[in-house]
Amino acid sequence: MTIDLLAIDGGTALCSSWPSWPPPLDADQRALVDDVLGSGLWGAAQGGLCERFSEDFAARHAAAHAVAVGNGTLALFVALRALGIGPGDEVIVPVYTFVACATAVLLAGATPVLTDVSASHLHLTAETIQEAMSPRTRAIMVVHLAGSPAPMAEILDVARTAGIAVIEDAAQAHGAAYDGRPVGALGDVSTFSFQSSKAMTAGEGGLIVTDNAELAARAWSIANVGRTRGGEWYGHQTIGWNLRMTEIQAAILIPWIGRLDEEIARRNEFADALARELGETPIQVVAPPEGTTIDSRHLLMLRLAKGMSRDWVARALAAEGLPVDLGYPGLHRIEPVAMKSRRIRTPRFDAVADRIIWLRQPVLMSGADGAHAAAAALHRVVTDRRARGA
Ligand SMILES: *Cc1c(COP(=O)(O)O)cnc(C)c1O
Repeated sequence: MTIDLLAIDGGTALCSSWPSWPPPLDADQRALVDDVLGSGLWGAAQGGLCERFSEDFAARHAAAHAVAVGNGTLALFVALRALGIGPGDEVIVPVYTFVACATAVLLAGATPVLTDVSASHLHLTAETIQEAMSPRTRAIMVVHLAGSPAPMAEILDVARTAGIAVIEDAAQAHGAAYDGRPVGALGDVSTFSFQSSKAMTAGEGGLIVTDNAELAARAWSIANVGRTRGGEWYGHQTIGWNLRMTEIQAAILIPWIGRLDEEIARRNEFADALARELGETPIQVVAPPEGTTIDSRHLLMLRLAKGMSRDWVARALAAEGLPVDLGYPGLHRIEPVAMKSRRIRTPRFDAVADRIIWLRQPVLMSGADGAHAAAAALHRVVTDRRARGA
């Protein structure tokens, strides 16, 4: 047996283990969770932790207001509803994103328009948005995909000219920044998720963030059965639901805000080291749009050279101990969603769809040391004849 034998052929795997995600509770989280459990004040209407978390997280993202809800899907629904979007309206959604972007629009009764993305950075652009606009377009839902902020300058330009709203889906972009400003208050309203896989998590959780006091009041009311803040318990001024977060979730999330920057730095060390070590191999890190200040690196997207066999590469990498993900299929390939959406041509995405693979957050949390092992595995696999689809 030679040292160079691939693991998929019975050789020794190049990677051993990766950090677990989420990390165990730290001392501050444990103390706060214990407090809440002991107090019996578990609901957001009783304790003050959901309020405190909303304020702290909004401040960290240079925004004035936030409303805590049960998950990121609900946060998108509340944001849409607070903007008054409903039946007959269209919302521009990138074709390359998580299914919740489209299904939240459907939940609000509106129609998603599955819009093409840049073949290089995989975000919406002014050009792709213009292809998707119609007289019914009410909002653009931009996604800060993988922690990489969308090219907001050109997107905000198109939105202002057309007089339509911009929703930032920042479910994957806690702490990211564009043009020197944190994501979250770059558009009209933004949403975050704290589901298990995200860069800050309480198992589940969501947040609506905005600088606009009126939108914030509407969002609060929608998530609190139509009440007004400080108003009567049985005073319902609008149609709303109980969509609240619990105090236990807030107790896990409050101390995490202080750790966010350090964790983003670790994932960037991984990404930078990997990009450096990959050199000129036929697999490359997807570069973020111009104007990116902080890519929070929730995931690392890699692009294979044309004609390579993604399935074989993924299998060979898994054998080397480097788990990779093929990522989203594209919303237009999800039949029940496509049937309810307005579809347009997406040639830019379709040309690269089958060449993208992801490295997930636990792998990225291994920092520069982990990147060295990952680069060795990638080198070994992508330079094999079989990776070329031969
Ligand atoms: C995770 C995610 C959501 C949905 O968040 P949940 O908390 O799982 O409901 C929405 N959009 C994007 C881009 C996501 O990654």
